[in-house]
Amino acid sequence: MANLPILQFEEKIVETVEQNPVVVIIGETGSGKSTQLSQILHRRGFTKSGIIAVTQPRRVAAVSVARRVAQELSVQLGEEVGYAIRFEDRTSEKTYIKYLTDGVLLRESLSNPELNQYSVIVLDEAHERSLNTDILLGLMKRLIKMRSSNLKVLVTSATLDGEKVSRFFSNCPVLNVPGKLFPVEIFYSTESPKSYIESALKTAIDIHVREPGGDVLIFMTGQDDIEKLVKKLEERVQSLEEGSCMDAIILPLHGSLPPELQVRVFSPPPPNCRRFIVATNIAETSLTVDGVVYVIDSGYVKQRLYNPSTGMHSLDVIQISRVQANQRAGRAGRTCPGKCYRLYPSVAYREEFVDATIPEIQRTSLAGSVLYLKSLDLPDIDILKFDFLDPPSFESLEDALKQLYLIDAIDENGSITAIGRTMAELPLEPSLSRTLLEANEYGCLSQALTVAAMLSAETALLPGRSKSTEKKRKHEPSDLPDGSGWGDHIQLLQIFELWHQTDYDMQWCKDNNLQVRGMKFVRDVRRQLSQIMQKIAKGSLDVQTNGRWKESREDYRKLRKALCVGYGNQLAERMIRHNGYRTVGFKPQLVQVHPSSVLRTDEDGMLPNYVVYHELISTTRPFMRNLCEVEMSWVMPIRKRLEKMNINRLSGGGSGQPEEQIEGEKSSLPKKDDVVRAPDDSQSRIQAARDRFLARKGNK
Ligand code: ADP
Ligand code: MG
Repeated sequence: MANLPILQFEEKIVETVEQNPVVVIIGETGSGKSTQLSQILHRRGFTKSGIIAVTQPRRVAAVSVARRVAQELSVQLGEEVGYAIRFEDRTSEKTYIKYLTDGVLLRESLSNPELNQYSVIVLDEAHERSLNTDILLGLMKRLIKMRSSNLKVLVTSATLDGEKVSRFFSNCPVLNVPGKLFPVEIFYSTESPKSYIESALKTAIDIHVREPGGDVLIFMTGQDDIEKLVKKLEERVQSLEEGSCMDAIILPLHGSLPPELQVRVFSPPPPNCRRFIVATNIAETSLTVDGVVYVIDSGYVKQRLYNPSTGMHSLDVIQISRVQANQRAGRAGRTCPGKCYRLYPSVAYREEFVDATIPEIQRTSLAGSVLYLKSLDLPDIDILKFDFLDPPSFESLEDALKQLYLIDAIDENGSITAIGRTMAELPLEPSLSRTLLEANEYGCLSQALTVAAMLSAETALLPGRSKSTEKKRKHEPSDLPDGSGWGDHIQLLQIFELWHQTDYDMQWCKDNNLQVRGMKFVRDVRRQLSQIMQKIAKGSLDVQTNGRWKESREDYRKLRKALCVGYGNQLAERMIRHNGYRTVGFKPQLVQVHPSSVLRTDEDGMLPNYVVYHELISTTRPFMRNLCEVEMSWVMPIRKRLEKMNINRLSGGGSGQPEEQIEGEKSSLPKKDDVVRAPDDSQSRIQAARDRFLARKGNK
């Protein structure tokens, strides 16, 4: 620790921070930015006037770094040094160094716009360019000018584009902390491998057999391929002749690993033993593992992408950028000269890889962020003119405005509504917060809270819903409830209520193949959401879990109606004579029910006429995931709003003149034909007949 590069710059850092409100610090990964900056500032008195906040884009990093700093300062985690991530706050009155996700800091600034409790705010890992950090950069710029008490902002980054951030903050000083990276020899594959898992396996074993000691860090793309490779590596290492090479320990490292397993990578290996750490890109810059001498780089990363013109998400394995490739290679040269094996040819690196990763703001849905910015009520913040480091596309802002309008979070002029304001206080995506508010009106808040909590659990809760087993789910006999034909949300509710009836028995979870940790988390999230709802509604609400899952279909009907309002924009109608759907919105898509859904066909083999969905994902085909059947009469108000919608007014551009759009942007106004009209006559006759049929069926 004593020799971390950043510590040699203590004087310079303190002096610069004292003289400037904003300072950018660039330092190689592992130089001590995340763990040491806060301690330096604490030593030098900056915690006398407030807490030091350090933001992290990733939850695991916030937790891991806080734990490390608490250890170094010999204090209890959660006391002097703590962390806050969504749904988990481990801080106390005593806390003077607080690690938190960028999302949590944004939320805090809603109730305390000046963030007065903080003397210093460090925006760490700015190079990751997470959406929330990008928004924080804009807010900090403002806060510096307006806050009455002194505020210091530090922006840290591992890559060298500090100049851009500096320009953004009126040419604030940039401090470079030169890392002492040792040379890393780079090897390329002669061709792109058919399977990067097999290729990584072979390379890892080659290193183990031929190369001198030193840990091996292997970059894979996600939990699935990490687990596969770990298993294969274990088998291969076992099969090596005893005594032919040193021992090996194989450790996975990814964001959904339980914390106690994550920290294993930080303990040094026993003597004469080599560690293989099989990681996602969290080992690129967020977490530094010491002892690595060899890096194996698959050249891929998993990236979530949102397409605002289709509303479709995809989770794709894509090629990394050159910046990422260099970061990965650098991990091999921290303690001595190292080697990096790239499982792709050099021509791919030179000609196929993009320069740098696209910032999240340009590849994600902005509905939540736009609602957030609107709720800040800052007179000088016009959503389209907000000061972004890299602005989002006009199309994605437009998409966000439409989504928000359809669920009444903003009115037809783009102003935030009372509903929208309340929604912004909930740490949920807009569709779910809207559902909670609506459910409260219908008297089914308790059930809606459960559904929202189940959907917010980060881990794949149901064994059948994890990606690798998704397809099998339908065929596995299970005693778990099945949503009674209404779909996945109702199933999630029923499962939780059943668990509640067992008095939250852990064994019950195990017997039913439910992740105990995930279910406990859901319970905790549910409790927190109810507390927030109680506070918002300023009264006592019915948030008790009643174990009512066997109750009347009327209960489910209320909940489904609330979901329909909340998901307003995530609605699809079945196509005549088809079991496929078309989404209802500005740009209709043809989609299918995801195979993992419990939504059932009726006795005529027909799926429901209308469904709302939690998410559109594009894998082999476009699918709707997590579905719920809704009724036609609930859909009508949404169609009406769709017809009334005028994007120019929504974006604050006046009464509908395209010229009044922000300059320089190409108009992407929907053409008339794109608008889904109410069903034509023949369609509505069929619909009416079907409704009569359903009504008869329901009365039986
Ligand atoms: P940076 O943020 O500049 O990338 P860090 O402050 O995260 O660097 O890491 C500095 C050093 O602290 C590294 O050598 C790293 O291995 C070590 N370190 C960080 N977190 C932990 C931890 N939880 N346990 C043990 N060592 C850690
Ligand atoms: Mg760091």
